[in-house]
Amino acid sequence: MSLTIDLHAHSTASDGTLTPRELVRHAHRSGLACLALTDHDTTEGLAEAAAEAKAIGLGFIPGVEASVTWNSQVVHVVGLDIDPSCGVLQQGLLGQQEFRDWRAEEMGRRLHQAGIPGAFEGAKAFSGGQLIGRTHFARFLVENGHAKDVRKVFKHFLTHGKPGHVPGQWASLGDVVAWIRAAGGQAVIAHPARYPFTRTKLRRLLAEFVEAGGEGLEVVSGSHSRDDNFTMARHAQDFDLWASAGSDYHGPENPWFELGRLPALPDGCRPIWQEWSTPTLPCAVGA
Ligand code: AMP
Ligand code: MN
Ligand code: MN
Ligand code: MN
Repeated sequence: MSLTIDLHAHSTASDGTLTPRELVRHAHRSGLACLALTDHDTTEGLAEAAAEAKAIGLGFIPGVEASVTWNSQVVHVVGLDIDPSCGVLQQGLLGQQEFRDWRAEEMGRRLHQAGIPGAFEGAKAFSGGQLIGRTHFARFLVENGHAKDVRKVFKHFLTHGKPGHVPGQWASLGDVVAWIRAAGGQAVIAHPARYPFTRTKLRRLLAEFVEAGGEGLEVVSGSHSRDDNFTMARHAQDFDLWASAGSDYHGPENPWFELGRLPALPDGCRPIWQEWSTPTLPCAVGA
């Protein structure tokens, strides 16, 4: 049986392709009882998504996915059940957004030097005037025939050592956890099996995360294998972390990350949504 809760998804407010309203409607049609919207470094889409969820009777959890630089590598931390009106959170996200704006222009300059003009403008058009991510550059490069698909763009243009890669510093792990906690939410390490970490290094991350006040691990992810889910369940138990589950849905173009298909949490996990057992959150019983 699939989970009826999904705590990681993107809209056009970051690099998803459905608007917050369309995403919520799609989640409902897909059989979900509860969805969290977790756009990269912005809460822009939350009000629209929450209003639509209320109108159609879907449980909704306001969230965000913040980018972190930890040990010179990028780690994503999802904040769940946050209050987006929190000034500390918004001040922190503003810094991330400013870095994104600068990085986007720098990516445009570097791609231009590599013989690909107009990438900044192209990515900006794909972003619809909202936050710009590498995915928007990838869509522009695919559209202009520089690569066959988005994955190939990342591999050949946007990752370390490639022409469009811009090194830089996201927020620290401790800062991001602090913003999320200030906003009343729970911090969750996103898609933990996706990082190129050894077991030892992952456990070092989890130890530091717990120390900083982090509370959850995305045990079940759309980008995990079954084995990954079981491995992460053990880590969650070892570090006494709540278990979260999220598809990391970005839109119908990537059908392997569809909504409503997440497997149940492995036995022994403590679902993070147990913390939210209030009558206003139907997901607490649905999943
Ligand atoms: P950014 O936060 O702008 O640096 O972009 C990170 C986003 O790029 C991720 O959330 C994914 O949506 C996307 N992404 C990263 N690596 C890949 C990849 N290898 N293939 C496809 N999409 C990717
Ligand atoms: Mn993304
Ligand atoms: Mn991520
Ligand atoms: Mn994501």
